[in-house]
Amino acid sequence: MPNFNITDIRAQFPILSREVNGKPLAYLDNAASAQKPVAVMDAMRRQMETSFANVHRGLHTMANETTESFEAARAKAANFLGAASADNIVFTKGATEALNLTAYGLAPHIEAGDEIIISQMEHHSNIVPWHFLRERQGAVIRFAPVTELGELDLDAFKSMLSAKTKVVSLVHMSNVLGTINPIAQIAPWVKAAGAWFIVDGTQYAVHRPVNVTALGVDAYCMTGHKLYGPTGIGALFGTDEILQAMQPFNGGGEMIEDVFEDRVTYNDPPHKFEAGTPPILQAIGLGAAIDWIRQFDFDDVHQHEMALYHAALDGLRDVNGFRLYGEAKDKGAVLSFGLEGAHPHDIAQILDKYGIAVRAGQHCTQPLMTRLGVHSTARASFGIYNTMDDVDRLVEGVKRAALFLS
Ligand SMILES: *Cc1c(COP(=O)(O)O)cnc(C)c1O
Repeated sequence: MPNFNITDIRAQFPILSREVNGKPLAYLDNAASAQKPVAVMDAMRRQMETSFANVHRGLHTMANETTESFEAARAKAANFLGAASADNIVFTKGATEALNLTAYGLAPHIEAGDEIIISQMEHHSNIVPWHFLRERQGAVIRFAPVTELGELDLDAFKSMLSAKTKVVSLVHMSNVLGTINPIAQIAPWVKAAGAWFIVDGTQYAVHRPVNVTALGVDAYCMTGHKLYGPTGIGALFGTDEILQAMQPFNGGGEMIEDVFEDRVTYNDPPHKFEAGTPPILQAIGLGAAIDWIRQFDFDDVHQHEMALYHAALDGLRDVNGFRLYGEAKDKGAVLSFGLEGAHPHDIAQILDKYGIAVRAGQHCTQPLMTRLGVHSTARASFGIYNTMDDVDRLVEGVKRAALFLS
């Protein structure tokens, strides 16, 4: 039993009481995007109802009040990630933009032949921005292998590090395998090689406590919409050093210090990376989501979600042709699976008939699918508001899908 009242939590998510195809909703697609509690909606609505103006400009009361709320959200993100200062947090529109900004920002420091090491379990948003550097700078991308259990092959990874390595960018928790990579263990190896260490914390930050300072990383990204917050907002943590080294991507208002006809000088980070009007309301919503999740103990949340995961796995193991993807020792509550002879899309469509939402496809991880030797998988991913009833219905639904599809 979780140390929190699940009924009380569910009551804070109005959407969870709706029906889908005449059945109560069992929402098990949290790794793609999570539902939002009333507290988040209220915070955004309250701002619009009581005080709204553009931030950082204007000397009137509402401009100052809105700036205060916006900057308070930045401080919450900094605190949530264990950053030394709010100045180390850049707001982006999500994790994808945070990773693109980082890769683009480091381009002036990358030369032909320089190596960028990522892994076979990366999300496309932590692969494609590095392909851009490969295409434009002549950088070389090397993929650290993933083992049969779905873990990063640490020995192989370590042997790939060299003086040529300029960047290492790894996912903290895989959105497909659930694998949690030992970032704190890896960081000293990357630093010893003299490379930047970037971590995609999009999934991990939803389920486990993060402290970027203790992890020893140079940059770390998270996203609002998977953390029970709004879409259109993410946060990039960067050390003073990396944020100074990075070139800005967007040019415009707010990001400059001085603009002349023949040159421009930039504002200090984080503002250097936030040209134009930022996603003000979304940032305030992210701040509210952080406040909301922090009322719970992450260990309790993790225990609850893993109990659901293990119950689901126990129920599914006996289903004819069931195959689990991702058996890492350290993993989060993501259950990727297939049924022999059945297309994952068909499984998801049958589950949807019963009101059960799961994802099927490549999950933006084509190199990982190739490594696993499959075209796609079905994925159930658990969040704080899921229940044993959701699990029972998932297991029942997959059993029916197996009968129907085999
Ligand atoms: C969802 C996801 C992303 C992309 O995040 P967005 O905020 O949707 O752009 C990146 N990496 C991982 C591991 C993800 O799960």
